[in-house]
Amino acid sequence: MSFTAADEKRVLDSVPSQLYIAGKWVDAENGATFDVIDPATGKVLKSISDASPADGMKAMAAAHETQESWARTAPRVRAEILRAAFEKVTAMADDFAILMSLEMGKPFAEAKGEVAYGAEFLRWFSEQAPRIDGRYTTAPDGKNRLMVLKKPVGPALLITPWNFPLAMATRKIGPAIAAGCTSILKPANLTPLTSLLFTKALEEVGLPAGVLNVIQTSSAGSVTGPIIKDSRLRKLSFTGSTPVGQRLIADAAHQVLKVSMELGGNAPFLVFEDADLDKAVEGAMLAKLRNMGEACTAANRFLVHESVADEFAKRLTDKMSKLKVARGLEDGANIGPLIEEKARQGVHALVEDAKQKGAKVVLGGEIPAGEGYFYPPTVLVNVPANSDVLSNEIFGPVAPIVSFKTEDEAIKMANSTEYGLVAYAFTKDLNRGLRLAERLETGMFGLNTGLVSNPAGPFGGVKQSGLGREGSHEGIEEYLETVYVGISDPTA
Ligand code: NAP
Repeated sequence: MSFTAADEKRVLDSVPSQLYIAGKWVDAENGATFDVIDPATGKVLKSISDASPADGMKAMAAAHETQESWARTAPRVRAEILRAAFEKVTAMADDFAILMSLEMGKPFAEAKGEVAYGAEFLRWFSEQAPRIDGRYTTAPDGKNRLMVLKKPVGPALLITPWNFPLAMATRKIGPAIAAGCTSILKPANLTPLTSLLFTKALEEVGLPAGVLNVIQTSSAGSVTGPIIKDSRLRKLSFTGSTPVGQRLIADAAHQVLKVSMELGGNAPFLVFEDADLDKAVEGAMLAKLRNMGEACTAANRFLVHESVADEFAKRLTDKMSKLKVARGLEDGANIGPLIEEKARQGVHALVEDAKQKGAKVVLGGEIPAGEGYFYPPTVLVNVPANSDVLSNEIFGPVAPIVSFKTEDEAIKMANSTEYGLVAYAFTKDLNRGLRLAERLETGMFGLNTGLVSNPAGPFGGVKQSGLGREGSHEGIEEYLETVYVGISDPTA
């Protein structure tokens, strides 16, 4: 599929350029704006309002003022708004995909995949809203009764990253709406346009004013800091890097906010001697190259049994060498640009460090000439254990391969990281698969698959990869409080 400049312009023109506060599109109080850049060209796509701390406070006030009435809205009404949003986003799939490809760089086909994934959170949580349950039980001594009910936690601050501009927003806004929470969304400044178009879609399907407020800004900390310290806020949900998450957890301690943290990863991808190698390579392509490797779930370290390591490396290199590196909206593009020059330099530094320490580059590894922040698919073999590429989150299309001898050694290597988001393993031995699920220190585990993301699955990590879960049955709990009512024996 190819697109003309007119297609791009039509979509960009349809995106609101202001802040969204209390149901109104408004300029920043001080009139400031910032530019959103196309990472494939380095050129400006659109200029949009740049929220100040004062705008953040207005959003806080709107979320607070709307909270009580929104919490009283019938669950079915909240569900139907979400269902209508699902239909609307699905109907606008091409526009959302063009926009995401423009501001984030991912190939159009992948962006379409994200629209389907992101929209599914709206449908999933539309189905969850009317199923928020409580319980009524008799105390063990047969006397008092215990009632347990759930209520929305209250206004939530939602902070999202740039890598999945739609799905990271719907994965938070969906359950917040379903639970009856109002929110303030602070999208990443590199890719805020998708959130603005999505907010317009929510407005068009009848989301009441004040339920969602959007404050994109070029100075995240100074705008969100006062909100996090404001006693009207009750919830903080963040997706992004571990260092920023750690700082926000510390800030949230001030008023003991309920926090959800979806942080960084360093996923091991294990290939055992009994694996179906074709399937393992297929899984590796997905786990490594989806989103150009810019995913928290991206396979970061390939740990391959020594008996199949050479063959795995050969087949993976062969497949990766056939990928087309191009602007996401170009026909047949497989690998778009990285998000910005700083990110590209960071990826390249990891490759150079591994090279210096003795790794062999069998594919890629050089920054291409020309505009945009492109980086080629890269394969590294014989990667020494002390290479930074094995301990840092790569966030690029680089596959370091290391071999192991035994299952115990593989598990030890896999767990030797402060992260614990996801692991992948390919083996035909089911018992081994189950042993791995029990012994790997991660919140998610892909067994003979390179993709675990699914709105019906609880997404999240352990160790420094986060707190809480998004999606599935667990996701809505992050936006609910439990209230226990003790009742005297009604039969006495
Ligand atoms: P980031 O730099 O931590 O930024 C994430 C968000 O936090 C952005 O909206 C950013 O705003 C904001 N932010 C930055 N500094 C802040 C501060 N001091 N106070 C409040 N907000 C602040 O992460 P990123 O580079 O956007 O995203 C990549 C990271 O996200 C990777 O580590 C990846 O693994 C992780 N991630 C995790 C998941 C998951 O579910 N576990 C999913 C996707 C991504 P600005 O844009 O204005 O800087």
